[in-house]
Amino acid sequence: MAEITPGPDGGAGDEAAWHETTRHKATGHGTTGHDTTGYEAAMRRALGEARLAGAAGDIPVGAVVLDESGETIGTGRNDRELTADPTGHAEIVAIRAAAASRGAWRLSGCTLVVTLEPCTMCAGAAVQARLGRVVYGAVDLKAGAAGSLWDVVRDRRLNHRPEVVAEVLADECGALLTEFFTRRRVG
Ligand SMILES: [Zn+2]
Repeated sequence: MAEITPGPDGGAGDEAAWHETTRHKATGHGTTGHDTTGYEAAMRRALGEARLAGAAGDIPVGAVVLDESGETIGTGRNDRELTADPTGHAEIVAIRAAAASRGAWRLSGCTLVVTLEPCTMCAGAAVQARLGRVVYGAVDLKAGAAGSLWDVVRDRRLNHRPEVVAEVLADECGALLTEFFTRRRVG
């Protein structure tokens, strides 16, 4: 989902659904051998974007795109409510910003860092952008398309398959979402 799982009514999933369908613990999501600590700084920037999304009333998911040298060339946060745009997921916003800054749609060698496992749309966008790597925080068991429900980014039928690094700062990323839904339920 970037964004958590929509409920049957099309709204965002509720807090109970979040608990049932995500996990914050390391689960070996197919990324053993990668040094996830190398992406923690970028994930913290993505978390900053996520908090801004939450403060604006959107589900708190944030993303950044890094170039080959690790420099941030695009940032994004979920703005689906703010812009009334169903494609306003953090990853899409960040990928568009990165491509605009480069003046090119092809982001080969770049890395997408996002606080929640991408949905099918965003995983598809990562492939279309020819991203070299997708790094995510919390796992989304109900809608994730980078190893959970689907594995769009590593589908062997596709020519381009970004590398995946899962569960970087997963606890923090997941806690932000849990807090958001808890607050919304109470409020
Ligand atoms: Zn998405």
